[in-house]
Amino acid sequence: MTAPLNPSAPPAHAKPRPRMSPDSKPFWDGCRRHELLLPTCEDCGRAHLPPGPVCPFCFSDRLAWKKASGRGRISTFVVVHKEWFPAFKPDLPYNVVQVELEEGPRLTANLVGHGGRKPVIGEAVRVVFDTVDDSLTMPRFEPA
Ligand SMILES: [Zn+2]
Repeated sequence: MTAPLNPSAPPAHAKPRPRMSPDSKPFWDGCRRHELLLPTCEDCGRAHLPPGPVCPFCFSDRLAWKKASGRGRISTFVVVHKEWFPAFKPDLPYNVVQVELEEGPRLTANLVGHGGRKPVIGEAVRVVFDTVDDSLTMPRFEPA
């Protein structure tokens, strides 16, 4: 048996993790505190995702992170039956939902707490937080 080339690397079948950048770090820090934060423009007042250096509506760089209600409606979804990634095989079939938040931005996540039924477009949902490990908490949604 040989030692792994990079002992700190995740196991080959670990689930991929979100890419965190200086722009998105406040979002993920908020999730760890069980707060859904959205970058919001202090000039036009609109919230947006994904996070970036300027408002996508008016190009202002006066942005502030504001706590969202955590409520929204499913705008679209897929149910995955194929093993695209070995790490997700135990979860098959699983859903991926896009939720239009009350504040406007759409967030891609999973619907949980739904008893295994298919998500419904237009369904009211609210955010819940899934602590994956010490450095990652994922937002997910459950029926409201
Ligand atoms: Zn703006």
